Amino acid sequence: MALLAGSLVLSYNAREIERSATNLERILSASMTGYRPLHDLQRDLQRAAVNQGLESALVVDARGVVLVASNNALVNLPLPHVLQLTGEQPLRALFTDCPSKDGVVSCLNQDRRVFVGPLPWLGGDFLVTMRQSPLALEGQGGGFGDRATLITVVNLDAQRNEALTFVLLVFIAGTLPLIFGSLGLLLMLRRHLLPQLLNMAQIDALSGIFNRRTFMETAREVLAKARQVGVPCSMALIDVDHFKAINDNNGHEVGDQVIRHVSKFLAEAGRSTDLVGRLGGDEFIILLQNPRDRAVQMLDRTRQQLQVSPLRKHDGGVVEVELSVGVASTAGASGFDLELLMAAADAALYVAKDRGRHQVVCLEMEDTQ
Ligand code: GH3
Ligand code: MG
Repeated sequence: MALLAGSLVLSYNAREIERSATNLERILSASMTGYRPLHDLQRDLQRAAVNQGLESALVVDARGVVLVASNNALVNLPLPHVLQLTGEQPLRALFTDCPSKDGVVSCLNQDRRVFVGPLPWLGGDFLVTMRQSPLALEGQGGGFGDRATLITVVNLDAQRNEALTFVLLVFIAGTLPLIFGSLGLLLMLRRHLLPQLLNMAQIDALSGIFNRRTFMETAREVLAKARQVGVPCSMALIDVDHFKAINDNNGHEVGDQVIRHVSKFLAEAGRSTDLVGRLGGDEFIILLQNPRDRAVQMLDRTRQQLQVSPLRKHDGGVVEVELSVGVASTAGASGFDLELLMAAADAALYVAKDRGRHQVVCLEMEDTQ
């Protein structure tokens, strides 16, 4: 895009430069036919060189001798000699089609305009022009019909730099929205979307506590660390009693509210180090960094508090919620193995249900009694 704009600007620039070169040629041609002294024309060429950005300007007579030039040193030199001078290299471009160096004089009788440089079609480094003009100068001898060749060399450095600056600006302007857009998107992703996505992946949408996968991953890390530092842990599996009946009697929406109610209760009941998750349905899980007796006490207290804190429905009615809890601990046969702890807690939960629900069971504690 910037390259295309740049190419357009450069080639537009080249056309502009050609136009102003034509104007300059006209002005200088007028000087050449003004019946003025030779030194006046010399002064005009020098003035044009300074004011119009001309690198060089010279008038060559029909014999191929430089009659007048913006560079005084070239005056009276034959054109083939001038073409050999290093400072006048761009001039050679006018005569590249000429049969031989000595024959350049024979090529003077034409009008030419050549861009010289690595990319001539886009403007190049120089614009070199050759234009035939009548010559009528005071004291110059010759008569009506005398002709000479006006040669100009325009240095295009400034215009090219302007165009390149423009290209750079177009490029920057074109890419800025892209850069800022991407940065903004990246920031938004980091600030809002990523945490949100992470949250969505980790948190159970209904209850707002850890989902099964996150609970398992985190619990595994907590247990590994606890084993290292020798902290006893307890695992509790918790299931709502007769939840199906709650759903049936009050509707699924109230069932959902009960799940949220229990989740909130469990999350706020223990310590901040406790890991609380929902395994699915009406089943919850807690990993406590407590020995089993303390864990059982805390869970039993929570169970009783929940019983006296029923869910208040929108219609003013209440739904009493009771829990069955199975507990296993790292002091038991499972040790710090997550799957074994869960299986042991599940077995204890099964016993709690079997014994009439609404209670906490820790089989290990019963075994040691
Ligand atoms: P128990 O005392 O033996 O636990 O009996 P229960 O009725 O609670 O039986 P169970 O735990 O097997 O019932 C689970 C019910 O929970 C069955 C299913 O329809 C319902 N359920 C599962 N997920 C959801 C949920 O996301 N929202 C609601 N409202 N109900 C759910
Ligand atoms: Mg249940």
